[in-house]
Amino acid sequence: MAKQNKAYKFRVYPTDEQALMIRKTFGCVRFVYNKMLAERKETYEKLKDDKEALKNLKHPTPAKYKKEFAWLKEVDSLALANAQLNVDKAYKAFFKGNAKFPKFKSKRHRQSYTTNVVNGNIQLLDGHIKLPKLKMVKIKKHREIPSEYKIKSCTLSMTSSGKYYISILTEYEKEIESKEIEKVVGLDFAMDGLFVDSKGEKANYPKFYRQMLEKLAKEQRKLSRKKKGSANWNKQRIRVAKTQEKVANQRNNFLHHKSKELVSNFDAVVIEDLDMKGMSQALKFGKSVADNGWGMFTSFLQYKLKEQGKQLVKIDKWFPSTKTCSNCGSVKEIELSERTYQCACGLNIDRDYNSALNIKKEGIRLLATA
Ligand SMILES: [Zn+2]
Repeated sequence: MAKQNKAYKFRVYPTDEQALMIRKTFGCVRFVYNKMLAERKETYEKLKDDKEALKNLKHPTPAKYKKEFAWLKEVDSLALANAQLNVDKAYKAFFKGNAKFPKFKSKRHRQSYTTNVVNGNIQLLDGHIKLPKLKMVKIKKHREIPSEYKIKSCTLSMTSSGKYYISILTEYEKEIESKEIEKVVGLDFAMDGLFVDSKGEKANYPKFYRQMLEKLAKEQRKLSRKKKGSANWNKQRIRVAKTQEKVANQRNNFLHHKSKELVSNFDAVVIEDLDMKGMSQALKFGKSVADNGWGMFTSFLQYKLKEQGKQLVKIDKWFPSTKTCSNCGSVKEIELSERTYQCACGLNIDRDYNSALNIKKEGIRLLATA
């Protein structure tokens, strides 16, 4: 039987005392993370030309700091152990060439910590969750976790407007049979909206979401006119944070809805393997590409498809999906300003629709050769 994972996120309502402990843990985790990173950075600088020595290094553990900084003992030790794992992970990714050199965490980073299940220290009960160092924390469980799902770890986080959430990672055993692939759809990433599919349909963000974005921009403008640090500025800052959270929630709901729809209608979804970061820099679109939610959308697609034995096919980012005629296969240059693809063969369709058709075709070709 293959092991599967699923995460559930719920709002929690800690008491003042519990909230204080949670925030203290955020701080301790950040402290330990930065300490370990600083030490490793130092040894890295010293030994960076000696690959063998780097490989065999003994790395610092949280225990080392507990002696020097006794207050670290007050918080959940599993959370500190996870900070160590995160430093390790960041380093490994760096050495593999998948990431930049790890950065120090500041207070402006997302505030969170992760703790693990050991000997029944975490238990989900009616209306409450038992957590290390916190005991019973009130939880709003808006959906049930099947009883055969085992809790592996929990991540507590706080939003900038001061709401607390818990993400519960579970594990369960399930044999997933691969679906026979009959229905395939290709998606072309779209700057405005989310994508255009190979039927020519656009996935546009709903109107209320675009209205909320306008509201956010308005609130941010108001904030910029207030005197930094003043009482009014602070009030406005919280208003901005709350609007940002609403925007993020609405976007998440939309992305969940769209990915679910695709997964129920198709056996395979084909997308281009875009490097969003590189793309947003290259195209100087900056924020809007990142805010578009494409990365999150594809990760939702990935796990939802996998759960049903279906496939996400990623095609090479150099595949000329825009330049190719989806009808006759000839390739030509096309300007960004040209909204339709016109070909000597007689094809005359929306450029994104043409791309989506090419992406679908390429996906089918890859599936056939796999
Ligand atoms: Zn053509």
